[in-house]
This record gives sequence, structure tokens and C-alpha cells, in this order.
Amino acid sequence: MRLSCEVIRDLLPLYYDKVCSKDSSSLVEEHLASCPQCLDELQKLKVDLEKPIISDGGIKVMKNISDTWKKDKRISFTKGIMLVSALAAMTCIIAFNVIGSKVLPDGTLVEPFALIPIAYIFVLVFIISLICNFVFLKKRKINTK
Ligand SMILES: [Zn+2]
Repeated sequence: MRLSCEVIRDLLPLYYDKVCSKDSSSLVEEHLASCPQCLDELQKLKVDLEKPIISDGGIKVMKNISDTWKKDKRISFTKGIMLVSALAAMTCIIAFNVIGSKVLPDGTLVEPFALIPIAYIFVLVFIISLICNFVFLKKRKINTK
């Protein structure tokens, strides 16, 4: 019995999954032996079905999501440093003013000098993290364009 190519192509997925009857599959095999076009269709079917579920596109999307997430983490990290360093610098300056300076009876000036460079260091850290944050945000904007 010779079936038309259309009938065979309808049966091919079932044949490939081995869910059609023995009679159908022997008919398909018979047809495939004499019909290179249908054999080609079966090869295409195999390629399609054996492709991994996550295609290249899927992997790319996943990578973009994880990259964005990493960048967001970096931005929150620099924001955290900004906040902490700003607070620390302010604390140092306030502490310096609160403690104030006094002159000891022997004439030496006592001031919490150490607080000034510490405050400057925190201000520097604040500026650096501000720049980093700005750069990260700009990079993210470029990537999302
Ligand atoms: Zn055919």
C-alpha cells in the first residue's frame, strides 16, 4: 500500500515518538525507504525535537537578567557606601564641634584633630562611591537602550 506523502508526514511525529501502531510504523518505514523527501522531514523533526529546551535566545535572556541583577546589586552597594560614608563624615564633623577644643593649664591645645582627616577620608569615600554609582547607572542606561 502506498500512502501519500501528506499522510506520512502527519504520521511522522507519532512514528518518531513511537506512539503509532505497528502497522502505521511499518507503513511509514516502507514509505521512507522510497521517499527521500519524507526521510528529510523525519530528519528535520529529529533536529527540532532534540534541540535543548533553553535555546540560545533563552540563555541570552537569562544572562541579561543576571547581569542586570548584578549591576543593580553593585549600584545598591555603592549607594550603601555613599550613605554610610556621608553619615560617618557628618558624625566626625559634628563630634569635632561637640568635643570642641580646650587649652590645658600648661598651655597645650587639645583638639580632636584626628577627626578631621577621618572626616576627609569619609568624604573622599563618599565622592568615590558617588562617581562609581553614577558610572554604574550610566552603564545600565546604555545597556538597556
Ligand atoms: Zn513521501
